[in-house]
Order: sequence, then structure tokens, then C-alpha cells
Amino acid sequence: MSNYYELWKYLDIDIDRHDELMAILPDFFKDVYLSQKNRPEGMNYFNLVVSSIHGLRPKELVELRNKGKKVVGTFCVYVPDELVFAANAVSIGLCGGSQFWVPDGEKVLPKNLCPLIKSFTGAKLSKTCPFFQCSDILIGETTCDGKKKVWEILNKSIEIYVMNLPQMKREQEYKEWENELNLLKNKLESLTGIKVSNDMLASSIKMINNKRKALKRLYELRKQNPVPISGKDVLLISQIAFYDDPERFTQKVNVLCDELDERIKKGEGVFEKDAKRILITGTPMALPNWKLHHIVETSGAAVVCEETCTGTRYFENLVNENGTTLDEMIKNLAERYLETNCACFTPNTKRIEDILRLINEYKVDGVIGYNLQFCTPYAVEYYNVKKALEEKNIPILLIESDYTENDTQQIKTRVEAFIEMLK
Ligand code: SF4
Ligand code: SF4
Repeated sequence: MSNYYELWKYLDIDIDRHDELMAILPDFFKDVYLSQKNRPEGMNYFNLVVSSIHGLRPKELVELRNKGKKVVGTFCVYVPDELVFAANAVSIGLCGGSQFWVPDGEKVLPKNLCPLIKSFTGAKLSKTCPFFQCSDILIGETTCDGKKKVWEILNKSIEIYVMNLPQMKREQEYKEWENELNLLKNKLESLTGIKVSNDMLASSIKMINNKRKALKRLYELRKQNPVPISGKDVLLISQIAFYDDPERFTQKVNVLCDELDERIKKGEGVFEKDAKRILITGTPMALPNWKLHHIVETSGAAVVCEETCTGTRYFENLVNENGTTLDEMIKNLAERYLETNCACFTPNTKRIEDILRLINEYKVDGVIGYNLQFCTPYAVEYYNVKKALEEKNIPILLIESDYTENDTQQIKTRVEAFIEMLK
């Protein structure tokens, strides 16, 4: 990490605070990740990306900026990367998964707010995240109330463009969303000075679809018994998907999948055959929030699927590639993105259909509903999720948590009892 000091100074990082942050990550990563047995070789690339998280990719982003590219930070899976890349900018999903930033966020936000929002706010205000520091603009959205209002605070530190995400999915909302995508395109064009052409949009749609296909391929392989890769490793890959170079990322995931294909042929897995299979559903797990996966997978079960924004919601549904005009392509984008089922929408029954489908596809033994503390949309929606699963006799456990380690032991006890009950 030390080689990147010049870069961090250039990005106006608070070096002392940043040193404190960087002192935590290596041991944490070693304990959670490098302690796993029989990890695929293909994980080496992702280990490298995360072990130089504040160096490798930020350096590339700075180099791209020096060549005139703009860096656009985003926070939600409804913001279409395709438009950002088509306007010759680079899109990076900004994470807020560390407790380190929460106290800085709490200086300007109420304590009883979702840790993800407090964390990314603290990351920006404390000047300790190079990804925030190298973003030219942030794209916010009107999803939950906390996010909607936080843009009015963050916009004192950086330009924020807010997309008005509808909260229902009637025909009129599809039209509104299409219109929002056109407005975003105009904004990006004025940011970069480059007009989005048919060819650029068509090729970025293809590029992001290829990334989705690679992730889908990876998830398909988790359907095997024994499962050839841990849930923790897949979570890490999903987290990296948000900010890595999309083409390189796709290639590395496919290389890993080739290796997993070989494992499957040999009947090799990372957990014992017939280990209990867990699906996690709920709020996103931004890097480095590995708490629940770590607990489950050190309690004898395997996480085989995540119905979250750092899971299937990120890559399911491809954008139709048949559009030839800009209008057609934007319509196709609008349709694909509104197919994502977040609890910010009402009604959101399709999410329950997704969960039931995934339980079936991944041969899940039990479901853990994961809720970041104070996330109202997912907390309220849990009632209907639980009811639907109970009707089908599928065991479900609710875990509500923040980013601290205070509740780790208590969660472990509950998860162990749940897994024991599945046996
Ligand atoms: S949970 Fe909803 S608001 Fe949060 S990132 Fe996912 S889609 Fe966006
Ligand atoms: S986890 Fe919930 S409260 Fe937090 S940002 Fe996402 S939708 Fe909002």
C-alpha cells in the first residue's frame, strides 16, 4: 500500500486517518478470506484487487482522468452504467460497508439511520476513500428516504445529480423512467462534452451484458453439490464488480468459472457434499461487509445464493440488444432496470416470486433475511417474505445488524441454532 502515498496525496486524502483505515483491512481480510481452505486459484486476481483496494484501481482511474475521462460515482443498481460508459466516462459503484466511516457519517446524520448511508457519507466527508476523491460527480437516486435526503448534505462537498426513481411499476412509471434515462444521458453528455452515439451505447450495452452473463455463469456453478466456491468468495467478486474495469472483470470471472467447471467434473467442492445450503435475501452488503457470510460459512453451512443488490439483483435480466436507435436502446435499458425488484417499490410481490424461484433453483435448505439496521423498506417487506416462505414450509431466520462487531457472537449463536435445525 505504501507505494501509493503520492497518489493519495494527489487525491487530497487525509493521510493520517487513511493510515488508520488501512491498518485494519489486511488482518481482517486474512482472517475472513485467506483462512479458507481449498480456494480456487482464480480468486488470486480478486485477492490482489482487494488487497490493494485503495491503490490499484484508483491509480487507473486517475490515469483515465488525466487522459480526459470523467469518473462517475453511483450508489444503486438502478443507475445504468451503460449510459455512463457510452458518454465516454467511467462508472464506479461506491461502497459504504465499513464501520470505520460510520462515526464521520454520524457527525451530520442521525444515529438511527441505515449504516450504509452513514458509512458512505463518512467516507466522503472524512476524505479517506480514494474512489470518492477521484469521482467528478456522484449520481444519487430517490430510492429510500435516507438516501433521498443525504444528497442534500453531500452536495456541499461534490456535485450530485439525482435521478428520480419511480416507486411503482405501472406503464406511466416505465415512461417516466425512460425519460429519466434521457435526462441522465443529457447530463452525462454535458459533463463529458461527448454526444452518446448509437454505436457507443450499443457497445456499452454489450459490455455490461457480458459482465452480467459472467456473473450469471458463476452463480449457475453454485447450484452444484458440493458447491465449488464459497459464498464469501462470490460475495467478494460481486463487491468488486461495482468498481473494477468491466472488461477485465468479465474476463477474470470467466477464467475462474473455467476452473470451477473442472472442479465440478472432479466432484470437488469447498464444503462437504450435502452441507446445508443457505440463501441470503435482503439489503446489500457493501465491501467490506462480510459478517453474515463469514458467520454462516464458519458454522458448517454454505451460502449458495444472495437475493440482494450485491447478488442476483445486480446481474439478473439482460438488456435487450436488438435496439438500433438511441430511443430504442434507452427504452430497452429502462425496461431492464425497472425489472429489478427493490423494496423501495410498492407493490413488490415480484421480489417474493424471485426468492421462491431462487430457493428452488439453488436447492436451498434455509433462508436468512438480512436487514441493515434502520432500513425500513426491507424491514417492513420482511413480513410478506416470511409469510410466503412459511406457506411453503421453508425455514427462514431474520438477522438485523449494523457494521460493528458487537452482535457477532449473538448472531453466530442464532445462525448455528438455525443450521442445526435444518439438519
Ligand atoms: S436495496 Fe434498493 S436502494 Fe439499495 S442499492 Fe439496492 S436497489 Fe438501490
Ligand atoms: S439498505 Fe435500505 S435504508 Fe440503506 S440505503 Fe438501502 S434501501 Fe436505503
